[in-house]
Amino acid sequence: MSDDCIFCSIVAGDIPARTVHETDDVLAFLDANPLARGHTLVIPKSHAQHVGDLDEDLASELFATVTELTPRVQAAVDADGANVGINDGEAAGQEVPHVHVHVIPRFEGDGGAPLHAVGGTRPDLSDDELDAVAEAIAG
Ligand code: AMP
Ligand code: ZN
Repeated sequence: MSDDCIFCSIVAGDIPARTVHETDDVLAFLDANPLARGHTLVIPKSHAQHVGDLDEDLASELFATVTELTPRVQAAVDADGANVGINDGEAAGQEVPHVHVHVIPRFEGDGGAPLHAVGGTRPDLSDDELDAVAEAIAG
């Protein structure tokens, strides 16, 4: 638990939330400032800022919860689809430094955008550059 983390305070029960799902290790609640009806956040209860900080079991449970909840969220608000994503790090727009998965219901004609819209200017990468990046990630 981190003292000045708003999501740790929700886990501790010090700040109210509209909880929709809870296990020993994972919590899901409605976003207080929703981008759409049903916008839900799924978090690990233990504090970690980055997805890479999660241990394997917790990461598995978090994703299992996301896959279980996403169709339930969609059904609850009669959505046509959903964007599921994580802002990992300040440069990616993360404001609350506690891992959270956004489940954002989407509706035909809602005026929103796909996840592709989150990137900045698209890089024009040569085949060699793509090969080098793939190699660097593969390690
Ligand atoms: P991010 O930019 O990915 O860090 O998103 C943080 C999200 O947390 C935003 O969508 C906020 O609306 C949401 N949020 C912030 N405080 C609360 C809160 N007390 N309860 C529920 N959602 C919150
Ligand atoms: Zn926290």
